[in-house]
Amino acid sequence: MPTSFDPFCLHPALLKALQNKAYAQPTPIQQSAIPYALSGKDILGSAQTGSGKTAAFALPILHRLASQTLFSPRRTLALVLVPTRELAMQVGEVFKTLGHHLPQAVQITTLFGGVSINPQMMRLRGGADIIVATPGRLLDLVDRNALSLSFVETLVLDEADRLLDMGFALELERILSLIPAKRQNLFFSATFPSAVQELANTFLHEPIRIDVQPEIENAADITQRAILVDSPNRTQLLRHLIEQNKWPRVLVFVATKHAAEMIAVKLRKARINAEPFHGEQSQGKRVQVLADFKASRLTVVVATDVAARGLDIAQLPVVVNFDLPRSAVDYTHRIGRTGRAGEHGLAISFVSQDTQVHWRLIQKRQDMHIALDVVTGFEPTQEFIEVSFVNGGIKGKRPSKKDKLRAAEQYRKSNP
Ligand code: AMP
Repeated sequence: MPTSFDPFCLHPALLKALQNKAYAQPTPIQQSAIPYALSGKDILGSAQTGSGKTAAFALPILHRLASQTLFSPRRTLALVLVPTRELAMQVGEVFKTLGHHLPQAVQITTLFGGVSINPQMMRLRGGADIIVATPGRLLDLVDRNALSLSFVETLVLDEADRLLDMGFALELERILSLIPAKRQNLFFSATFPSAVQELANTFLHEPIRIDVQPEIENAADITQRAILVDSPNRTQLLRHLIEQNKWPRVLVFVATKHAAEMIAVKLRKARINAEPFHGEQSQGKRVQVLADFKASRLTVVVATDVAARGLDIAQLPVVVNFDLPRSAVDYTHRIGRTGRAGEHGLAISFVSQDTQVHWRLIQKRQDMHIALDVVTGFEPTQEFIEVSFVNGGIKGKRPSKKDKLRAAEQYRKSNP
């Protein structure tokens, strides 16, 4: 069956893998990036998880490896750096699936912290052609002489903004000093704050700039709702919404691991199958929670932002921001977990009196305006003082006392 991947002239084994995955045509980021990546150019790609960016860098890397002699013990020719262990596992899996039919087995090794280092050292004994790693664990292994980075020909930074956000700047600097200066760089980032731009300016050589619209704009099929609710009533409201709508699977975002644990306990008491998911759980536990969620053994996962990026959970109809995200970028990432692969998604944010100003800021950054709903039985009793934002507010103008009274009156009328 011909596919529109054909013009890239990828190795037949890769085309076969694409057919098995039923990827009939390249996504926009793949369409733009693959030809340049194949020709050895540096790329600076603005793309988010959900855009298909993993295959956009994995296919050219695998294609190159397929057409060259692999050494024994294996030399690491491609290094992919990612911010979290979940993303490391996910990206590693994509490489393995796409490379599955290659005639000479390509050794792909995934390395991340939070688990014992010894099995990873053992796995590296025969070398690895492709390494997908989080920076800290990679350096630990370098320091133990478990691997060498001196043959790397392609470096991928996946979610570069997140890597820097998570405080990996020094580790990145060190890793960059360990790999050959002459190499291909493929940098992907959802956002381009000055730190990412600086990194790109320093390390990329005449990069091809590729911009793919953020997921939130692409994913026209995410309905966004905001619900006004008194902060202490949020768990009850969540429970009510889950039961009333019979949602089969819900990802709930909270601000702290403590909240994740507490809310999961409360939901379980209400006979809703829920588990927390946060960075202080063991790796085994997190893997188990995700597997249970994906296999529909769990209805609700209550997660901190650790789960916001990079996770690919097919058929996730609803995301709830129980606590609002810290930034507009995090908002995009959180709601991007739903409405994937052409399915319809629903993203609900709970807004309380103490978070309304923050919610207004998130909306302003996103250049969006979502009307605030109230759910019957959960009407807020706390007064919403800064009500002017209900009507969009006036940029650059602080509401006067009169404005506030007028807006409060209007709000009361529209929410009898
Ligand atoms: P990513 O942004 O790499 O995490 O990919 C997001 C989702 O898109 C994953 O579920 C991929 O399996 C899927 N995907 C990637 N490329 C394609 C394609 N060409 N056609 C259909 N689905 C794809």
